[in-house]
Amino acid sequence: MPLELFNTLSAKVEEFHPLEDNLVRMYACGPTVYDYGHIGNFRTFIVVDTLRRFLKQSGYQVKHVMNVTDVDDKIIRNAARDGVTVQEYTKKYRQAFLEDADALNIEHPEMLVNATDHIQEMAHLIAGLVGKGYAYRTDDGSYYFRIAKFPEYGKLSKKDFAGMSDGARVDVDEYDKDNARDFALWKAPKPGEARWETEIGPGRPGWHIECSTMSMKYLGESFDIHCGGEDLIFPHHENEIAQSEAMTGKRFVHVWVHSRFLLVEGEKMSKSLGNFYTVRDLILKGHKPSSIRFLLMSVPYRKQLNFTFDGLTQAANSVERLRNFKLRLESEPFPEGTSEAIAGTAKKTSDEMRSGLDDDLNTARALGAVFDMVRDVNAAADAGDVRKGDVLALLQVLQQFEEIFAVLKDDDAAKVRATVEWAKSEGLEDKISAETAELGKAASLADADVERLVAEHSQARKMRDFARSDAIRAELAENGIILENTKDGVRWKRK
Ligand code: AMP
Ligand code: ZN
Repeated sequence: MPLELFNTLSAKVEEFHPLEDNLVRMYACGPTVYDYGHIGNFRTFIVVDTLRRFLKQSGYQVKHVMNVTDVDDKIIRNAARDGVTVQEYTKKYRQAFLEDADALNIEHPEMLVNATDHIQEMAHLIAGLVGKGYAYRTDDGSYYFRIAKFPEYGKLSKKDFAGMSDGARVDVDEYDKDNARDFALWKAPKPGEARWETEIGPGRPGWHIECSTMSMKYLGESFDIHCGGEDLIFPHHENEIAQSEAMTGKRFVHVWVHSRFLLVEGEKMSKSLGNFYTVRDLILKGHKPSSIRFLLMSVPYRKQLNFTFDGLTQAANSVERLRNFKLRLESEPFPEGTSEAIAGTAKKTSDEMRSGLDDDLNTARALGAVFDMVRDVNAAADAGDVRKGDVLALLQVLQQFEEIFAVLKDDDAAKVRATVEWAKSEGLEDKISAETAELGKAASLADADVERLVAEHSQARKMRDFARSDAIRAELAENGIILENTKDGVRWKRK
């Protein structure tokens, strides 16, 4: 069965086939880097990760581009407030986004591109739209898209904009959800705020033009998949379609994939309700990155995920169960031979996992298959019915699972430790729970041990005892410590 995906544009589940050979070109709207990402953002990024991992597992080559929105009204305001440039302001949060993605085993896209590196190209696209009559300049030097000239406006969000007034405008990214207005492509500069000099004059881009420019630059005028959270359907993605298709006259994106919004304890996440969590908040409360990833993946992307702390505890138990199962397979001295029944179970699980994911990325179905296998094989092993010759096939099923779910590798402690160190460096010691401190301590080697080994390593080299120095280097590497030779001697860092 080929992969089937729900396409927001057609409002149907469709068989997926790439436009070109075996290559899948996909774009995902990335983070706006004015703060740390919250678990709602990461719910969407994990959905995208699931999709890209499954496409690769299905034999496709994937070219996945993600933008980093490192300029918008809020960023410009905050940077001006702090008296730093936009780039200086966003650097920390861009880095934090990557660290959080790593903590959750989210693969990096093939290209992660910054809006601020593409301002001239955005201005050029706007100039092109003006040339074709789809955009106009206002007296202050801003530019707007003329939606009355694009009759298909509304086709993604299924909104009927007939009878809208030509020339009514919005210049903020916060949009009136029911009324179409000509939207800002380019904003004239305000005193004291970041600006760029371009062929269409000075100013800064609107948010929507960013994604049209960068997606088409790297993926072509028509590409396969565009993803984001459901909040982006309107106006952001509707506007991307208008800008891109007005310019090229071609269909911009073939499949639009949108994930449902995450709720927390049944409510919309918001700072004022006190139910707003970043990945770091949860780790500091004592939760493992693998539990967070598991929970965010366990509900299919078109179903509403209600994030609860009970759910997080259950996710931790599920991960534990899977890890224990793998350990059992690797360490138990099973009797010689093979069992047809177990071989059948392995095959059935592998097939069901694949058809579950083919079914519009139904992660719950795939997980159901794996947990059935764990239950059945554990029972068979207790009864002495699992043989040495079955183990490889079972481990291969777990490998197939791990390629997508990525929770079996037990590296939580080192990640928690890194978060603890971050919290200390930010003066957030009081936020570190006792559980987190305990978990972090379990990380392979404490700094003091590393220092001791590094000193021993240097000493061994000085004595030309290379067998010893190599052995220490290997031990450190096993614990995720990398040694670097610098002109000031050996330095170490954690991987
Ligand atoms: P932002 O950093 O706000 O530009 O958002 C980055 C991504 O996270 C976008 O794809 C949003 O649609 C998505 N997103 C934001 N909030 C949530 C939420 N509560 N649930 C799921 N996705 C979200
Ligand atoms: Zn976007």
